[in-house]
Amino acid sequence: MEKKKRIALPVQIFIGLALGIIAGLCFMGTPEIAVNYIKPFGTIFLNLIKFIVVPIVFFSIISGVISMKDIRKVGSIGVKTVVYYLCTTAFAIIIGLIFANIFKNAFPVLEVSGLEYEAAEAPSIMDTIVAIFPSNIIAPFASATMLQVIVASLFFGFGIILAGDKGKAFGDFMESANEVSMKIMAFIIALSPIGVFCLITPVVAENGPKILGSLAIVLLVAYLCYVLHAVVVYSSTVKLMGGVSPFKFFKGMFPAMMMAFSSSSSVGALPLNIECSEKLGAKKDIAAFTLPLGATINMDGTAIYQGVCAIFIASCFGISLTLPQQLTIILTATLASVGTAGVPGAGMIMLAMVLQSVGLPVEGIALVAGVDRIFDMGRTTVNITGDAACAIIVSKLEEKKEARKAGRAG
Ligand code: ASP
Repeated sequence: MEKKKRIALPVQIFIGLALGIIAGLCFMGTPEIAVNYIKPFGTIFLNLIKFIVVPIVFFSIISGVISMKDIRKVGSIGVKTVVYYLCTTAFAIIIGLIFANIFKNAFPVLEVSGLEYEAAEAPSIMDTIVAIFPSNIIAPFASATMLQVIVASLFFGFGIILAGDKGKAFGDFMESANEVSMKIMAFIIALSPIGVFCLITPVVAENGPKILGSLAIVLLVAYLCYVLHAVVVYSSTVKLMGGVSPFKFFKGMFPAMMMAFSSSSSVGALPLNIECSEKLGAKKDIAAFTLPLGATINMDGTAIYQGVCAIFIASCFGISLTLPQQLTIILTATLASVGTAGVPGAGMIMLAMVLQSVGLPVEGIALVAGVDRIFDMGRTTVNITGDAACAIIVSKLEEKKEARKAGRAG
């Protein structure tokens, strides 16, 4: 019997995205239809992803740690990962600031009197550190607090290794649970084309007219920086340190990037990102650790957005930021992006912290809040692409290290 040829999933997702944009444009006159009848299906899809992402992160990190058999190895991977994340984020914000300064004069000067923005309390740095550690075994899972789930999985992984033979049964169970969660994830990922369609349609229907408004130039500058950062930083690091050609990298990452673009959630794109990165050569145990961590702390796109918006808001208030102030922004935006959760809109809340650090009025956020979703789609795409680049690079570095060790031993 002739087998029917199936369209590959990345192509299906692309079709979903393209059709969603077209449908969104059609609903621009009546966005409530898209919001009331299409968005709920996108929400169901995102809920399913959120439902599976915590078990995936927990079981896959534990399985990854067990397979490394060595706590020091986890430490060495952790250090490489965090260094890559912090350096690329600082670079991202520098690109954002440079371009925002170049285009500053083209930014519209919006009316700032009567602005009101109720800034959600951005946590302090110490609070952020304290919040990494769970105080209870259930709460991090119930509230899907990713950093705490990561810490809990590391502890359990280490515990299993240290318990030796007595921990074996528990370790086997965790590995089996990991396999089962992966199967559930594969099933949910197969629904991505429909999910992407339902997520993007209401966004275009609601925001389409706004994009054409006065903020277009600010959005354009942010997107220019997003693209530049991805092309320059990720292409070069992936090529030089990971040995993967940039073309292959972006082609392989496309499905995860489209998912990030339409869901505006790094955590939402995590399952697909794991799949894409592994296909591009990231090792399973390393991807299991770097990607969930990256979805929580590595936000290059968010850092770019914060830099561009800080300059734009300052110019609306007629304030010119000095060099030391811009250096402060580099520092605070790097930290703020670490504290940003991988969910839609989180970066805007952390923008408050960046503005406050240089004495800019927090109400300025109201100027960009209306189109935050459009900023968010691009920044999330950059955020997850950086995570994948890191997973591939660290895998390659570890591979080289192993080869060197083997060479010395042999
Ligand atoms: N939505 C972004 C993400 O999930 C975070 C942000 O709002 O900047 O990566």
